[in-house]
This record gives sequence, structure tokens and C-alpha cells, in this order.
Amino acid sequence: MDEELIRRAREAREHAYAPYSGYRVGAAIRSADGRVWTGSNVENVSFGATLCAERIAIGAMISGGERVVKELALATQDGGTPCGICLQVLSEFAEEDTEIVLDGGAGGPVAVSLAGLFPQAFRSAQVRRTETGS
Ligand SMILES: [Zn+2]
Repeated sequence: MDEELIRRAREAREHAYAPYSGYRVGAAIRSADGRVWTGSNVENVSFGATLCAERIAIGAMISGGERVVKELALATQDGGTPCGICLQVLSEFAEEDTEIVLDGGAGGPVAVSLAGLFPQAFRSAQVRRTETGS
């Protein structure tokens, strides 16, 4: 478990904007080159416009020129898991055995794998391009 990554996720959680649910989330990603990218959840009065901390961190990583998630730490009030949308987005840039550390539960941080949370991810290998687009 990467203690610095957990600390950075906790710091990002402090910056969460969650006035509607009160469920504050911080995410920290270590990319393949060793850099850390963080995100906080950003809620919106139009609930569908809400952004999750994990996807913000992934977006920061992509805009910083990285493409591979080596590890993710997620800080919540209860050790909660990423939502289904975030697991799908994460699966685009992570391997099945990528470690996800869930922080905030009563028992302390827990490490799980991406495949453990999302065993049947829809992967890019399942999408084949053809010249006709069909
Ligand atoms: Zn999410």
C-alpha cells in the first residue's frame, strides 16, 4: 500500500465540493511514470452534471500526458468503492490487477484489485473498427 497516495487522496477529499450529498471523495492516482494525480468530487445542482473524484484524477493524468494508472487510492467517509462509471473509465487505463486502496473504513485502508471490483469490464479489445463502421 502506497502511504503517500493515501495521504494525497485524503488531502484531495478535503477539497471536495459536495453540498448536496455531503459525501466527500478524494482520489489519488500514481501513473506509470511515478507522478501523482488527484481529484475531488464536484457536485452540481443539476445532479447529472456531478463529476466523481476518480474521473477528475484520470482526466488530470491524461492532460498531463500519462496513460497508465499503476495504483489508485480513494478516500471517503466509509471506505466506499468507485461507482460503475468510474470503474469503466478506470478500466480504459488500468490493468485487471491494478491495486485500488479504499480508505476511510473503520478497519483502515483496504487494498482490492480492479478485477475484484469490476470483473467483467467492457474492454477496448471488444470494439473493432471496420471501414464501414458496422
Ligand atoms: Zn464515480
